[in-house]
This record gives sequence, structure tokens and C-alpha cells, in this order.
Amino acid sequence: MPVKIKAYLQEKGINPSMQRVAVMHYLLNNFTHPTVDEIHSNLSDSIPTLSKTTVYNTLKVLVDNGAALQLTIDEKNTRYDGNVTPHAHFICLGCGCVHDVEPIKLDEVSLSEYKNLRITETQVYYKGFCEKCYQEKLLKEAENNK
Ligand SMILES: [Zn+2]
Ligand SMILES: [Zn+2]
Repeated sequence: MPVKIKAYLQEKGINPSMQRVAVMHYLLNNFTHPTVDEIHSNLSDSIPTLSKTTVYNTLKVLVDNGAALQLTIDEKNTRYDGNVTPHAHFICLGCGCVHDVEPIKLDEVSLSEYKNLRITETQVYYKGFCEKCYQEKLLKEAENNK
């Protein structure tokens, strides 16, 4: 596996240092849209010398070279995604979980009206409640109405 990740990073023009391979490996095995803190705490067991700043800088290199996506869906935490194929995201306002959702086809006809804009990135975010949180919300509301 690490060999394949090395090749993947090189393909993206990234020098595959040990930290970069480790962070990329984590992203490709955890499609939970982790935060810097989550990645750091999970990797620091196997790489004790890894600092949070290094994780942050590594993610920046991955994002800048198109190997990972940076998501701003969560106002409190920047999240990262190893899936760089276009897709939309859903965040639960209850528990904060982030899910991938089917990519929607943005209306290219209406976008083509903006001839002077060169679009390099599209992010589509949905917010709401996951099944579990929605049920809890309904229960709470029912209780408040008693
Ligand atoms: Zn939830
Ligand atoms: Zn995603």
C-alpha cells in the first residue's frame, strides 16, 4: 500500500516524504472527512515526532497539488477529504458527521453565462440532520409540546 501511495503522490508532483505518505494513507483509508486534530492524534502513535503543524503543512501541500480536498462545511473545523472526484457533502447539525452525497449536476448552461469567470473548484454543501439526530430532535420536540 505505501508504495502505491508514493507513486500517487509523485503523479501529483508531490515529493513523497514519510509524513506525506502517512497523511495520504490515512485520508485514503478514512473517508470520514477528518480534521487536523483527528489525523494528528491517529498518526502520532506510529510517528511520535509528528507535530500538528507538520500535519497541517502536509495537508496544505496535498490540497495545493490536488491530492486532497479542503472542506469548510464545518464552521468550527477545517476538514480534509482524500476523495478528489467531484462530489457534494452533507453535514449533520446535530452530531457533526459529514457524509458524501451523490454529485449533483450544476447547471452548466447558466454557469456559461459568466463568461469572464474561470471556475477552478466547486463545493456543494447540504446541512441538516442525520437519521439518528432527526429522530432525537422529533422526540425532544414532542416532549416540549407535552
Ligand atoms: Zn447526526
Ligand atoms: Zn467527501
